[in-house]
Amino acid sequence: MCTIIVSKSHKKGELIYHKPGCFYANRIKPERKMSLAWKDLWGVNARPCRYCGGVRGELRMNTSIAGLRRQQDISIDYEKRTDAAYVRTDIGCWKICVWKKTDMYALWHRNVYDGDMSLEQAAAGAFHRQMDVKPTSSIDKLINYITAHDKAKKIIREDYRKLPQHTARQKMYYRQAERRAKRAARHRVDVLFNLIEKQDPSMKALSVC
Ligand SMILES: [Zn+2]
Repeated sequence: MCTIIVSKSHKKGELIYHKPGCFYANRIKPERKMSLAWKDLWGVNARPCRYCGGVRGELRMNTSIAGLRRQQDISIDYEKRTDAAYVRTDIGCWKICVWKKTDMYALWHRNVYDGDMSLEQAAAGAFHRQMDVKPTSSIDKLINYITAHDKAKKIIREDYRKLPQHTARQKMYYRQAERRAKRAARHRVDVLFNLIEKQDPSMKALSVC
């Protein structure tokens, strides 16, 4: 986003900033508002508009999110208590919230999720910061990440070798999944040997190390 609209409120004379296209900003008389470059906002003591600002405002104003919200395989909801957006796919639940009072958004991942949870149940669980994603001003980017992440996770559950390996990031995820799969395989072999040795202690003599 490169420009914003700053308006002066009638009551307190305070400055309020809006996203372009805000319903309320459009109704303000030209003499009470001005356009400003996004980067120049820091020099102005203005608060975000209650309609178009923050996570909730982003969900209202962002047309690509409106398109996504009509899709079956993803749900995007605003939850007032936590002032956050919750993005749910069939296998994952994610939280997007404002990062340290900036105009950036950070991404959080629910530790455990099952597809039947209601929004309230999903929001009440424990989340961890998704550390490989930096806070960004673009919620679209975060949603793209979420979709790619959960799609890849589903492939890994089936067979990690089907993961795409075109970009550097994809190759990195492939290697991660490969390491994890090998670790899991080693663990299974260990468990198996322990079982065999328990049933027949003489088997232990056969092991090399
Ligand atoms: Zn506004």
